[in-house]
Amino acid sequence: MESLASLSIKGFIEASFVDWPGKLCSVIFFPRCNFRCRYCHNGPLVTKPDMLEDIQFSHIMAYLQRERAWIDGVCFSGGEATLQPQLPEIIAYIKAQGFLTKLDTNGSNPELLKRLIDDRLVDYVAMDVKAALDERSYCAITQSARVLDRVKESIKILMDSPVEHEFRLTVVPSYHGSEEILQVARDLNGASRLRIQNFNPASVLDSSLQSLKPFDDVLINSFQQQVDDILAH
Ligand code: SF4
Repeated sequence: MESLASLSIKGFIEASFVDWPGKLCSVIFFPRCNFRCRYCHNGPLVTKPDMLEDIQFSHIMAYLQRERAWIDGVCFSGGEATLQPQLPEIIAYIKAQGFLTKLDTNGSNPELLKRLIDDRLVDYVAMDVKAALDERSYCAITQSARVLDRVKESIKILMDSPVEHEFRLTVVPSYHGSEEILQVARDLNGASRLRIQNFNPASVLDSSLQSLKPFDDVLINSFQQQVDDILAH
């Protein structure tokens, strides 16, 4: 526990029903990210984490111990959680206290993902897939070059693993047309779940997207249905 006292944690949600399907979980937010997704709404966490106050790990543990009767698990999010060198240690510590553990990741660190799975430290993984799996599409939305091979490796690790997981695609009208959305589903051939999420134009990294109208809910549901159909065959 002492070695975790210096962890940089920049956000904490005490109880969430929306971050883990079917579970009530707490969410820990780590600073920094190696992507710069245009639709990211965690701007300060990604670009100016030093401006945000640190949250003490001891405070989080005190909360979890107090509310352990209600909280099923802890979600490790960000930013990109796998950039934290102490991530395996903190997950192991919280798991040893009897909580389930979930990782949110952009898939850029396949080595750490594999280690967490092999060491049985994660019970659920949600991996963002940002676009169809070609360099041009991926770079356009993440503003990060040469990440695709690592993302593909993480997808394979997850799909070959016994760990419960889902892939998530946040859709932005100017970057994801219906054909691209369906292509992502085809690229994930064999995956059990691709969740379509609408982007939220409030406080996005790329301010030019702030005036962009998100897809309406009927269209989002239609995309989800078509994606489910592709994955089912
Ligand atoms: S959306 Fe996620 S992966 Fe993209 S910049 Fe924000 S925190 Fe990083």
